[in-house]
Amino acid sequence: MNRARGAYLWDVEGNRYVDLVCAWGPLVAGHAHDDVLRAIRDAIDRGTGFGAPTEIEVDLAERIVASVPSIEKVRLVTSGTEATMTAIRIARAATGRSRIVKFAGCYHGHSDHLLVRAGSGAATFGIPDSAGVPDEVSRLTSVVEYNDIDALARTLASSPPTAAVILEPIAANMGVVPPHDGYLARVRELTRDAGALLIFDEVISGFRVAPGGAQERYGVQPDITCLGKIIGGGLPVGAVGGRAELMDLLAPLGPVYQAGTLSGNPIACSAGLATLRLLTPDAYRQLDETAAEIETGVVAAIAETGVTACVQRVGSLLTLFFGLTRVESFADASRADTGAFARFFRAMIEQGVNLPPSQYEAWFISLAHGPEEIAKIVEAVRAALRS
Ligand SMILES: *Cc1c(COP(=O)(O)O)cnc(C)c1O
Repeated sequence: MNRARGAYLWDVEGNRYVDLVCAWGPLVAGHAHDDVLRAIRDAIDRGTGFGAPTEIEVDLAERIVASVPSIEKVRLVTSGTEATMTAIRIARAATGRSRIVKFAGCYHGHSDHLLVRAGSGAATFGIPDSAGVPDEVSRLTSVVEYNDIDALARTLASSPPTAAVILEPIAANMGVVPPHDGYLARVRELTRDAGALLIFDEVISGFRVAPGGAQERYGVQPDITCLGKIIGGGLPVGAVGGRAELMDLLAPLGPVYQAGTLSGNPIACSAGLATLRLLTPDAYRQLDETAAEIETGVVAAIAETGVTACVQRVGSLLTLFFGLTRVESFADASRADTGAFARFFRAMIEQGVNLPPSQYEAWFISLAHGPEEIAKIVEAVRAALRS
């Protein structure tokens, strides 16, 4: 790809595509939004970083604390991977335990102890358990199926005791898989009873489904929250936050070491802050309506063509699964017809629609997707399903 603006990408040959990747989620305002570019230019004009805190970093941190219900204090980092890595280190220090529980098909970045039955690219390329992760490390991570509360209860009841349970409160890295009604509340109860911390990885859902993310939408508060993607507005930012007593374990107040040369750098933080300012209540309504219209159109096209497929959507995240009528876990998702998805993907890109190139990803809708783009996407889906 060569350049992008609004809902569109242009490749090096000048072909234009409606983009449903949006840089894998950060660009909720669309590509190259004027406000975001202006904020970046203003920041650059003042220098690219000072090795010391800046007002813009503090503004972004304050906005996160004000928006996300369970975050009292937050540490900015440079990626989602660092956020989850740090969250686990805090949880292990807080509990004095080593074991981590994650869910099959959830993706939490590429640190060693989380590349176990991972979703996203790891699932796409058939390497959910990455080479190069020592058995001694992966043994500390237990994996259970998403939406299976009994499996989690059994794992938490077994030894050794668990430091933390980490999950995407809206799974979006095995395709979009919403939590069952009441599931997150039960996960909260079970972790509390087991003395384990609950980590919500809201790197995708944070500021996308609501200003307070999935925890606001479902009314369940984790102990620690990881953020990324949208809070950097297209530049590299991550964040880990939670209750003050947990965050105070981080150095220099506490004994858990964490650092980052470029963490909280003013250029990335200014892009993030400019993006968060665009996310008004009206913006969330618009994102939801746009995605709902796409969903309705795709569901109608599935019915018209008789293809076996289903659409799963939460807010402005959705996935079209082939060969399945319902997906509740990675066990389900892994039975999807990925050959059909591959043919569909090619038919879509030939018609000028750029989808995430995997069955195990979400389509990301932005504020730049309007009626013209919705119509184009739905028409292309109908033609692709027919062919
Ligand atoms: C993208 C993602 C990450 C990793 O973030 P990076 O910035 O790519 O390191 C972690 N968790 C979830 C849920 C993600 O979608």
